[in-house]
Amino acid sequence: MNISAIPIARGGAAGPGLIDRFGRRVNYLRISITDRCDLRCVYCMSEDMEFLPRARILTLEEIRTVAAAFVGLGVDKIRITGGEPLVRKGAVELLGELGKLAGLRELVLTTNGMRLEQSAADLKTAGVRRLNISLDSLRPDRFRALTRVGDLSTVLRGIDAAVSAGFDRLKLNAVILKHRNHDEVADLAGFAVDKGIDISFIEEMPLGRVDGHDRKESHYPSEAIRADLESRYSLLPTTETTGGPSRYFRIAGTATRVGFISPHSHNFCGNCNRVRLTAEGRLLLCLGNEHSVDLKRVLRAHPGDMERLKKAIAEAMRMKPERHDFDLAAQPVILRHMSATGG
Ligand code: SAM
Ligand code: SF4
Repeated sequence: MNISAIPIARGGAAGPGLIDRFGRRVNYLRISITDRCDLRCVYCMSEDMEFLPRARILTLEEIRTVAAAFVGLGVDKIRITGGEPLVRKGAVELLGELGKLAGLRELVLTTNGMRLEQSAADLKTAGVRRLNISLDSLRPDRFRALTRVGDLSTVLRGIDAAVSAGFDRLKLNAVILKHRNHDEVADLAGFAVDKGIDISFIEEMPLGRVDGHDRKESHYPSEAIRADLESRYSLLPTTETTGGPSRYFRIAGTATRVGFISPHSHNFCGNCNRVRLTAEGRLLLCLGNEHSVDLKRVLRAHPGDMERLKKAIAEAMRMKPERHDFDLAAQPVILRHMSATGG
């Protein structure tokens, strides 16, 4: 295929927007606003992480500029993530600014919930419509072991604050590891049902080196999770989507949807609509590959040149790979951690 002949962008929501070589339309940007975090989840980080010095990460103004460029190119959904986005000073104000971008349909946030009790109401006011909150266990000792330093009661208070704040939707994210928390699948779903919120179960992805467990050993496939759930609940298939990689079911007789994010057992690349901006300003075209463009270099070499930035973004679409190829048996090929990538 002659990739230079492919129309890549017309700009603005009226045109076709950002289209990659495989005809997929990219309308969703995930932005990691920091690689830092107040937790050290065993599947995400190693115990002693080195974080980027401040000068190497994008300023909040640079993040706003990149977001505006993407929205100008037809992106209508932005997720703010990290690291833990709420540890970055000015995060709520940034969300407020992004919430005002004309053309942005959905502004969402992924958080570990440690600071939600204080910030849930402000996030709602800032224009955040939906929150994803990570929760892998309902047992305080396990929660501590999985996050290494986390406090379950703090996160539970954060979830309650988010429920009270009245977001359009709340969703829990649970990474399930065999022998660490796989026996809690139905309990976690029950918790979501009690709160009237959704939950997604995620298969662990081999991103970055982690110490303390072997990813091949800890793999717990979505099909096993589904069987565990069906021992307690009736799951009704639904075609509903939130524009992300989850496949959804509804728990019969409840308001709760259950999603499965199955990078190993169910490849979701065919309808991939998203790209990621790392905290360092690298535009990453695929979670499971290293294809990227250094947007920080463009921003800092040509401050204020929005057209040049948009051109760099549009051209980057030619680089988006067809699919990821995660291999649990191999040592991680992708050396960056999920926290640097923006999960
Ligand atoms: N700190 C926030 C949080 O934990 O929600 C946002 C960033 S975190 C990297 C985003 C999501 O990625 C979380 O739901 C987390 O559980 C998930 N995650 C992190 N490392 C992962 C891995 N190796 N495989 C699968 N999911 C992972
Ligand atoms: Fe931090 Fe989120 Fe990674 Fe856990 S998953 S270490 S909370 S960035």
